[in-house]
Amino acid sequence: MKPQLDWSAYENAGMGDAYADIPKTGGDYAKAVAVCINSMVCLRPIDRGVMCPSFRVHQDAAYTPGGRSRLIKKLLNGEISAEEQATLDRAMDACVACKGCKRECDTNLDIATIRTEYLAQRYRQQAVGLRQRLFAQLPALLRHSVLMRPAIKAANALPALTRRLGLNPDHPLPLPQPSPRLEPRHDQPGTPLLLWVDSFTAHFAPDTARAALRVLEAGGYRVYLLDEEHCGGRSAYSQGLVGLAREQAAALLEQLHPHVEAGHPIIGLEPSTLLMLRDELLTLGLGEAAHAVAAQALLFEEFLAREIAAGRLELPLQARPGAAPVLVHGHCHQKAVGAMKSVRKVLKLIPALEFDFIEASCCGGAGSFSFEAENAEDSRAMAELALLPALAARPDAELLANGFSCREQVARLGGPRGLHLADLLARHLA
Ligand code: SF4
Ligand code: SF4
Repeated sequence: MKPQLDWSAYENAGMGDAYADIPKTGGDYAKAVAVCINSMVCLRPIDRGVMCPSFRVHQDAAYTPGGRSRLIKKLLNGEISAEEQATLDRAMDACVACKGCKRECDTNLDIATIRTEYLAQRYRQQAVGLRQRLFAQLPALLRHSVLMRPAIKAANALPALTRRLGLNPDHPLPLPQPSPRLEPRHDQPGTPLLLWVDSFTAHFAPDTARAALRVLEAGGYRVYLLDEEHCGGRSAYSQGLVGLAREQAAALLEQLHPHVEAGHPIIGLEPSTLLMLRDELLTLGLGEAAHAVAAQALLFEEFLAREIAAGRLELPLQARPGAAPVLVHGHCHQKAVGAMKSVRKVLKLIPALEFDFIEASCCGGAGSFSFEAENAEDSRAMAELALLPALAARPDAELLANGFSCREQVARLGGPRGLHLADLLARHLA
């Protein structure tokens, strides 16, 4: 078996006793799977933390990170039965790639990345489905928003098409919005930076991109944008289409190169797309250029928190009379890298703002997950575990959620339409 991702970071994982149980095939991919040491932490009853939303809703050991690892080891050793293979297929499809395991597992087992390799291996043996191809190509398709709006409307309105594509009939696809070009001022004296507006923010949340530009310019930063729209390959990576993800990421790296050379921080708004630059990008075999980008990539909130800590941020923020209290739901990938403390630090800048953090794991949105017919039930169940009850208990509160999927998921399940941190800050600018 030839791994499709670059697993060389695990080159030395076989050195210690803890990793002695490495499968016979799969090379460094097998080593990445073998880091599970069967501590069973992921099988214990969970009352806090974020791991593992799919185990939380299934209550079946095969749906824990460790359970998945054990079955993949059997597969790589050629010892898996047909029944176990079917269970593993279901468990891998039910993984929301939240990275909760990477953060909370004893040995940081990263099933989200393993899942992409698993899907990529699947597609070496079977054709890629139409739905998977469409989701993977969505960022490219969104550039033709004039055509995409009616196409998405049709997909939402025709039950036969929804069924044919394997879409969740209860979660209509969101419609792209007009995305006028942002015009940053380049006369600002402050630190130059690149605001990378990913395809999802550009087409589904253009107001958030505009708000982020306003906030950064109000802070005195000189904001650059990319000349052309580029996605980083997140959608293709999530669907297991590694070659396409690599192509898209390589094109983005080329666009980012002058900004990397100039030492500009690369700021992103959508957690899963920006954090891909620091994590999954390094598994695509793109060499030094990828490492250079990873070293400069920051979430919007991480950048602002860093500036606060350095005493460099002065945002003219003011209280708004009658402002609703804010409940914050962290995107799984924000939580996985510890970015919620940055959100907290930034929210403290807003005078008189009352805010609180929701203790929940994945909302069940998770990119394409909530749109997939076979995952519809899990998706809703994940939201109902803690997130929806927390929102229902505070009907007076506004939702702050930096993930587009999280905001979509909550809104379609009857919760409030959420805001991004950039929207909230822009609203409080003097
Ligand atoms: S990535 Fe999330 S859903 Fe998948 S195994 Fe890890 S904790 Fe569970
Ligand atoms: S996945 Fe991590 S937490 Fe779960 S059994 Fe393996 S080592 Fe322990």
